[in-house]
Amino acid sequence: EGKIVTIGEILVEIMATTLGHGFLEAQTLIGPFPSGAPAIFIDQVGKLGHPAAIVSAVGDDDFGTVNLDRLKQDGVDVSAVAIHPGAATGSAFVRYRPDGGRDFVFNMRDSAAGRIDATPEAQAVLAEAGHLHVMGSGLPVPAVFGMVSASIPAIKARGGTVSFDPNIRVEMLRDPAGKAAFQTVLAATDLFLPSGEELSLFSGEADEGRAIAALLDAGVQEIVLKRGKAGASHFDRNGRTDVPGFVVEEIDPTGAGDSFGATFLVARRLGKPVEDCLRYANAAGARTVTVKGPMEGTSSFAELDAFIAATPVGAA
Ligand code: ADP
Repeated sequence: EGKIVTIGEILVEIMATTLGHGFLEAQTLIGPFPSGAPAIFIDQVGKLGHPAAIVSAVGDDDFGTVNLDRLKQDGVDVSAVAIHPGAATGSAFVRYRPDGGRDFVFNMRDSAAGRIDATPEAQAVLAEAGHLHVMGSGLPVPAVFGMVSASIPAIKARGGTVSFDPNIRVEMLRDPAGKAAFQTVLAATDLFLPSGEELSLFSGEADEGRAIAALLDAGVQEIVLKRGKAGASHFDRNGRTDVPGFVVEEIDPTGAGDSFGATFLVARRLGKPVEDCLRYANAAGARTVTVKGPMEGTSSFAELDAFIAATPVGAA
C-alpha cells in the first residue's frame, strides 16, 4: 500500500490573543504555529500512522524549520519539501472577531510556497504515491496544477486513488483557467470532500440531493459532506450515511476540515465501515477546533478512541 501524498503550501500562523478587529493597534500575539491546509492534512495522516509525504517548498528560515520539524516528528516524509534560500516561508496573522468571523493579514506573496516545483525529489515521491490528495488552495500555482494533472493518470494506472478537498476561495472559480483546473481534478476524483457551499458551487445545483446525484453521475465514487458542528454525511451509489458531530467548545476552527479529511481517508483505506470512518473523522475535526493553532489538535488513533469514549454526540 503506497503513501498518501499531497502537494501545496506550508506556512505559519500567528494569532491574536484577544478578540477584536484586525491588527491596527499593538497587541499580544501567539505563534508561530505550523500551518497550511495541505500541511495540516498530511500531518494528520502521519499521526494516524499511515505512510505520508508532502510536496512543497519553504524558505531557509525558522518558520520553515518549525513546519519541517513538526511534520518529521509526526511521521511525514518531507524529502520533497524544497528549501529555497532566496524566499521566505509565508505567514498568516489571524484575529478572531467577537461575532466568530476572522480577520487575516497574509504574507504569502512571493513566499516559498509560490515556488513549489516539479523537482526530482517531488517526482520521486509522486511516482510512488498510492493516493493523491488534491487541495484546491494550491491549484492556482501553475507548477502545482501541472504536477497534479500529470500524476493523476499515472496513479490511476497503477490502481491508486484520488481525493479532492476544494478548499475554495470563490474568486478561483470566476477565473476560467481556475475553473478548468478544478473541473479537471473533479473528473478524476474518487473521494470528494466539500463543505455545503462548495457542494453547490461544484455541482451547479442548490438542492443537496440534486447536487449529490449530479456529482455521482459525473463519476465521483464517494462524497463526504462536512457539516461543521453538525457532523458529516457520506454518499455513494448505495445511499447515504449521516453521523452527528461531537459536542465541544470551539476555540479555533482552522484546520478542522483538513484533519477531518485525512482521518476519513486513512480510516477508509484501512477498510473500516463508513460509519466508523465518519465517527473518527468527526472526532478529528472536533479535537482540532478545541485548541489554538491549526495543527495543534491533530490526533493519533489512540487519542481519537479516548476522545470518542469521553465526548457526547450532538443531536442528529
Ligand atoms: P471546513 O473546516 O472544511 O470548513 P467544517 O467546518 O465542516 O469544515 O469542519 C470539518 C469537520 O470538523 C466537521 O464535519 C465536524 O466533524 C468537525 N467540526 C468542525 N467544527 C466543529 C464544532 N464546532 N464542533 C464539533 N465538530 C466540529
